[in-house]
Amino acid sequence: MPVPRISFEFFPPKTLEASFKLWDTVRMLAPLRPEFVSVTYGAGGTTRKLTHEAVTTIGKQFDLNVAAHLTCVDATREETLAIADSYAQAGVTEIVALRGDPPKGQGGFTAHPDGFANSIELIEALAATGNFNLRVGAYPEPHPEAADSLADVRWLKRKFEAGAHSAITQFFFEAETFLRFRDACAAEGIEGQIIPGIIPIENWSGIRKFALATGASVPAWLDEAFEKATRDGREDLLATALCTELCDKLMREGVEDLHFYTLNRPTLTRDVCHALGVQPQVALENVA
Ligand code: FAD
Repeated sequence: MPVPRISFEFFPPKTLEASFKLWDTVRMLAPLRPEFVSVTYGAGGTTRKLTHEAVTTIGKQFDLNVAAHLTCVDATREETLAIADSYAQAGVTEIVALRGDPPKGQGGFTAHPDGFANSIELIEALAATGNFNLRVGAYPEPHPEAADSLADVRWLKRKFEAGAHSAITQFFFEAETFLRFRDACAAEGIEGQIIPGIIPIENWSGIRKFALATGASVPAWLDEAFEKATRDGREDLLATALCTELCDKLMREGVEDLHFYTLNRPTLTRDVCHALGVQPQVALENVA
């Protein structure tokens, strides 16, 4: 089986301590030579400046292809396009274009009166600049706001028609969830690349809560497995084995690209990548 192409998601740090953590994370994962890495944009656009700083600094210091996440929340079209333009000026050529969610506790998405009404409008406007390779979000288990799974797949198709080059999925726990979604997309005539989003489970109770909030289903066997592993102090071993097995199953079904949600904790992601045959590529001059 060929070695997969990999990519990593990070989030921008809000404190000095978190900055060091991000730095250590990127330093540990950069030698795996990802196709790209991406930096999230806080819910409600709350990390506008921090995301920009993280994207440009990682790009400069680590010679990585960095994608900036950008959402339409709480900003006029002009403001959103100005942010995109500042990325183009800084040499950033990849954007993960999303509608986004408001900050916690503020209900559902409401478009800014002068802002983009949805992700399609944002994608079209960014595509029209000709400056970016555009990636978008996709939902193997339908997004909570989707009318049904077919409507969700059709909406994704519209994102590709609007100018998206590839889609990255929400995370999921069973390979069949992604494979069914991939089939449904193919049946609707989607030919664009769909990259599965993979979450190494460093903290099961936290990830479980996060999963339920995003509408991902949580299989009972996973609860049982982590309950036993926690009793035996073996959570990391279980997490590495489960994540490696999930990736392996996907690759056996022809998946060539994997996008890891690192949560700025690099060890599990690194171990899984190693297990999948992705080896660090370190220049000799950096070793001596
Ligand atoms: P869309 O796909 O446009 O909308 C979500 C769903 O709602 C659609 O799939 C569709 O079924 C339905 N829908 C929406 N509008 C319509 C319409 N007009 N007609 C019919 N159906 C409609 N959030 C952040 O705040 N910052 C981030 O950095 C971030 N990064 C993410 C990265 C990835 C890879 C993913 C998958 C999600 C990310 N999110 C992020 C979360 C995302 O913002 C939320 O899931 C948000 O609710 C939807 O954004 P979207 O662009 O996927 O929306």
